[in-house]
Amino acid sequence: MRRMIVYSIALFIFLFAIFIFYLEEGSKTYVCEVEKRSCYLKVCDTQYYPIDQNKIKKINELIELKNADIEPSRIQLMEAITIAPYSDMEGVNGVFCNNSIFVRDNLSYEGQLFVARHELSHAFQSALLGESCTNNESCATINSAISYPMGFIETVISSLVISFNDSTDKQCFLFGSWKIFRYYILP
Ligand SMILES: [Zn+2]
Repeated sequence: MRRMIVYSIALFIFLFAIFIFYLEEGSKTYVCEVEKRSCYLKVCDTQYYPIDQNKIKKINELIELKNADIEPSRIQLMEAITIAPYSDMEGVNGVFCNNSIFVRDNLSYEGQLFVARHELSHAFQSALLGESCTNNESCATINSAISYPMGFIETVISSLVISFNDSTDKQCFLFGSWKIFRYYILP
């Protein structure tokens, strides 16, 4: 009986290792059929989204708080960002541009907080207030996941659903998701 369990665990680890190897190799070599998305984000175009000085002021206040090592409250965080239609920022959950933070509207409240906190980390990084890390992306994700763990999970699930629905090429989806996972999570 015990031997059966050991064999099962060994087999599981073996299959898991093969699967990771497949994802690693595939994401390096697989060429997706179509690259549907352009890099253009309407929310970062000041012609459509003029700079909101009030929001920038709020972000600067959060930078001041960060200087004093104080984490912003949920209300402070939501006041500093702009919730925008997903169609104006297709392909991303949030973005920090023009010293402003945009978060997509088709995400749960906790998810929006998580993404907002992630983008706020980028605002800190641009103000040269690092959060002691080597990789800016994984650092921003880890810091916001600590504050908003449910939001992190909800954002990951929501991103996967969107990406799955949008992809015509399912292998592309699989390898693309792995790349995103690596990019955000692994240091
Ligand atoms: Zn980021």
